[in-house]
Amino acid sequence: MLVGVSVLLEILDEIIARVLASHREPGPSHHLVDEGFIGELRDHADRVRRGDLSRAPELRVLFLPTGPLGDIAAGDGWPDRYLELAARFDSALEDPALRGEPPEAPACPGCRRRLERRTLRRSEKTWGGGRPERPELWWNCPQCDWLGFQRDEGGRLRPMRRMQGDWADCDFCGSEESNIVSETWQEPDGELRDWVVCLACARSNPRRVRRDGTDDGRGE
Ligand SMILES: [Zn+2]
Ligand SMILES: [Zn+2]
Repeated sequence: MLVGVSVLLEILDEIIARVLASHREPGPSHHLVDEGFIGELRDHADRVRRGDLSRAPELRVLFLPTGPLGDIAAGDGWPDRYLELAARFDSALEDPALRGEPPEAPACPGCRRRLERRTLRRSEKTWGGGRPERPELWWNCPQCDWLGFQRDEGGRLRPMRRMQGDWADCDFCGSEESNIVSETWQEPDGELRDWVVCLACARSNPRRVRRDGTDDGRGE
């Protein structure tokens, strides 16, 4: 689930709980809430939970300070909390990932040219029939062939390089010369590791790296 979606759901859940309380207890806002309104809010929450944001513009209207939620909050004594939630709601909806916009391409660490997005899809299909993408953002340089990824948009660019010899072939899918490897890093216990990814089937696995420099496909 996208971070933006879980934020929206958290806010909607709190709003629904507060509105339900207004509905159940006789108070200044009691007359503003009926079953229909609660049903509408729940319907919005269900859609967001499924990742369907097609009715987000209507939700935005519901959240306007002059809208019904603002009136209920004012009557029941939580106008400040309401404004806080409405502001968070608006900024969550501004999240580019939520609006389906492509991430911005960073400059190549090697030659400063703008990198091109590369998608790594898994070879096994899901129940829905699609081939899911790896969760990282993968980038390729059209000029110097730099290859690497970011864990999140705007995050550090992590270089990968092509493996050598037999190591370049994937054990999982049998594809040849498709394996790439990360830089090594040290675990807290002193162990050296790296991470191998197959460009053909998108499977990955971490490896233990030997310190004696014997050939392990990393090349020079
Ligand atoms: Zn480059
Ligand atoms: Zn493979």
